[in-house]
Amino acid sequence: MTKPVKKSVKKPAPRKAAPRKAADKAAKPARLLPAAKPRLLERLRARDAEIRRLMHISSVLSWDQDTYMPSKAVGERSEQLELLSGLIHDRQSSPELGQMLKEAGASDRRPLGPDDAAPVERAYLRELFRAYRRSTRLPRRLVTELAKQAAVGRAHWAEARKASDFGLFAPQLAVILNLVRETTKCLGYKEHPYDPLLDEYEPWMKTSELDKVFAGLRVKLRGLVERIVASGRRPDTSFLKAPYPVDRQREFSLTVLREIGYDFQRGRLDESAHPFTATLGCADVRLTTRYNPEFFNTGVFGTIHEAGHGLYELGIGAELADTILADGTSMGIHESQSRMWENFIGRSLPFWVYFYPRLKALFPHPLEAVRLEDFHRAVNAVQPSLIRVEADEVTYNLHILVRFELEKRLIAGDLQVGELPGAWNAQYQEALGVQPPDDSQGVLQDIHWSMGSFGYFPTYALGNLYAAQFYRTMKRDLPGMEEELVRGEFAPLLSWLRDKVHRLGRLVPAAELCRQVTGESLDPSCLAEYLESKYSGIYEL
Ligand code: ZN
Repeated sequence: MTKPVKKSVKKPAPRKAAPRKAADKAAKPARLLPAAKPRLLERLRARDAEIRRLMHISSVLSWDQDTYMPSKAVGERSEQLELLSGLIHDRQSSPELGQMLKEAGASDRRPLGPDDAAPVERAYLRELFRAYRRSTRLPRRLVTELAKQAAVGRAHWAEARKASDFGLFAPQLAVILNLVRETTKCLGYKEHPYDPLLDEYEPWMKTSELDKVFAGLRVKLRGLVERIVASGRRPDTSFLKAPYPVDRQREFSLTVLREIGYDFQRGRLDESAHPFTATLGCADVRLTTRYNPEFFNTGVFGTIHEAGHGLYELGIGAELADTILADGTSMGIHESQSRMWENFIGRSLPFWVYFYPRLKALFPHPLEAVRLEDFHRAVNAVQPSLIRVEADEVTYNLHILVRFELEKRLIAGDLQVGELPGAWNAQYQEALGVQPPDDSQGVLQDIHWSMGSFGYFPTYALGNLYAAQFYRTMKRDLPGMEEELVRGEFAPLLSWLRDKVHRLGRLVPAAELCRQVTGESLDPSCLAEYLESKYSGIYEL
């Protein structure tokens, strides 16, 4: 999953030009690829489909590595993934493909607006062109080496995390970081070396834009956290940290997935050290989760989060199958879907009005005497803490901002790998007022860097921002939504998401999608207002 956005803050408003543009359009053929090149699109699609299939094969191997593969197979598996990444790279950067894209007049032009004459073909050529340009800028050696080192890196990271010893992972991280820095040089950038990395996950987004958006968010979040802490109210969460037998957690997770509309004929749920969603094909989108036998939140909310990703991938229009457009439009939009289900829906009172009786039946011991309202308050408890994936909705974004700052410095060369644990701890002290007692609860908690994924973290916070804006619009469009959730009717909500977001795949870049769906540009105040309103209620602020 991955993709694009461009924000709006300083975007000019080409509105005035619209009438003329519309007139031009009317005079043009409705397709970008006219009769003179009848087979060009077909040829491009055949090449593209082959690349998609190789990527799906690669996903099968990665999914297997993270779920069922025996540990000693890691060496062979990394070579298999290296081979595939080379084959994919060869196809994506082939001169024949370049020639075809040139003949088709492909460019990275973004959507012109609602009057765009051939939005599907334009988007198709745009995405192919961007992938081609990116591939041709990266030497094959770098791509395959990074794939190989990332596979090895994951294994080193897992060992180091288990031993809670950053020193075991540091040499491999240094190797990966050097390759990533080389990548930024090859891809090129005008402002910040972090930009080309960000662009892979959030196309068109710039570091400078994120700096601005996040600065505003940081101030508002800290203010809210301070007021929550100062309120002195501490919801009782003791019953969440109690024995929750894993087989019953699994049963409940499967129930929730079925009820919210995840299709088990096109997916499945497995377990892995780090939950993820893997797209193995248009009819095969798999989820993983992990269960903590002593803590409720990890398993179920992790499952619901991944379900949000899975529903997005499964909802992409069938007409886009086997094309580069059959994918989420950006990781920020992808995360908006997972966070929407996990938090905006999955931690709402109506959701638990429906599910809580069944949860209580499965876990009578910790939950028998716990009232619904107290359970709801507990799963929404705000507490500055160490672990990102277990953080509440309010402090979660502060965890992301820590990583964003560290990544920028690592990529710019202002921070060395050996200095990372100290810098991590200092940032946590500053942002959240907590100190990790060891590396596994600190700098080693996330898998991303071990896989060479730099530039990914900010998309989690972007996801929360987009989710807030989508949620506000959705509630406006579906005034009966809360009553429907209480009755366990998830179909209207899912249909809305499919219609407005999922079916479009990568046709519409994130910034345009946000405007198209909500009528507004990306705006951090919407998330701030949502959190303010929700937590004022819970904490009686
Ligand atoms: Zn996610």
